[in-house]
Amino acid sequence: MSERTPLPLVFDEPRGRKKPPPHLADLTADERVERLKELGLPGFRAKQLSTHYFARLVDDPAEMTDLPAAQRDELVAGLLPNLMTPLRTMEADRGTTRKTLWKLFDGALVESVLMRYPDRATICVSSQAGCGMACPFCATGQGGLQRNMSTAEIVEQVVAGARSLARGEVPGGPGRVSNVVFMGMGEPLANYKAVIGTVRRLTDPTPDGLGMSARGITVSTVGLVPRMLQLAEEGIPVTLALSLHAPDDELRNELVPINTRYSVAETVAAAWNYAKVTKRRVSIEYAMMRGINDHAWRADLLADVLQSYGDWGWVHVNLIPLNPTPGSKWTASDPADEREFVRRLEAKGISTTVRDTRGREIDGACGQLAATEA
Ligand code: SF4
Repeated sequence: MSERTPLPLVFDEPRGRKKPPPHLADLTADERVERLKELGLPGFRAKQLSTHYFARLVDDPAEMTDLPAAQRDELVAGLLPNLMTPLRTMEADRGTTRKTLWKLFDGALVESVLMRYPDRATICVSSQAGCGMACPFCATGQGGLQRNMSTAEIVEQVVAGARSLARGEVPGGPGRVSNVVFMGMGEPLANYKAVIGTVRRLTDPTPDGLGMSARGITVSTVGLVPRMLQLAEEGIPVTLALSLHAPDDELRNELVPINTRYSVAETVAAAWNYAKVTKRRVSIEYAMMRGINDHAWRADLLADVLQSYGDWGWVHVNLIPLNPTPGSKWTASDPADEREFVRRLEAKGISTTVRDTRGREIDGACGQLAATEA
């Protein structure tokens, strides 16, 4: 099916890349104290800095008036260095969807999207600059992997969104982030350590972290099976979202090249294991692509593959309408085909939803904005 030579899968970031400066969000509460002591600064100030960052969401050192003026700059430089600069923010849905393009310290570009709904606010974060998973329908995948993001760079996207909401910058009055989804640029489980660190910072009680519920956090993957098995053992009940996109190896090998390493059967078994161990329902993500993966028989096959692990409610299918791109091979399914796909899954007892299409007019699909800018 591919018109060009498939890109190679890349699991490790290029060697020799400079690391972002250490930040308090990279560290546990104890490590922050140690870091300040190493810098010759009083360790007890770590708690005050954490309170400013995670509880008060302050980013201006001038507002940190409980820190001695003579030490403030040193303390901020030691634990709260500037990690990223917003290059551009685009709004849609009357300002309730906001996509920010960030420039990292080394010039790498990533993006995050804040989506406010009547009952919740979700932020979608990037976990890598670029991505090495080479999915042919994805703009990010075509650029390859630049580097892994640090824990603090991922956390900072959430804190920036929380700050906008708290300051009432998003229509609907002051609010807070209730959900975080790792569905921006990158394959989260390929940057496992930083992503787990982020989940811990998001769920650590304030002021050590943001004090969020793990149940509001969704980690997505294209199916790095060993990491999926490892995640099940972490004891943090985040939701796992598996981007399946095809129920058969022949098609999935092309759409999601990691499938050449871990088959559909192995990948779905790892998802089922996650549900069994954590008692959390797994979400199967399925981007509907016209004439490629949206056939009625594939809906039946998908239902059969998932049903083979029983119908105890371990799984939910989330269909994702692609942006309509006239003339592109990767375009949105016909609404009638989409409805039939849903009908067939539900007829076989699989709970199914169609994802809302927030942010379409601002290139809401993962990676598209950064790819355009680059
Ligand atoms: S779809 Fe996701 S995993 Fe695949 S290349 Fe794009 S960002 Fe990476």
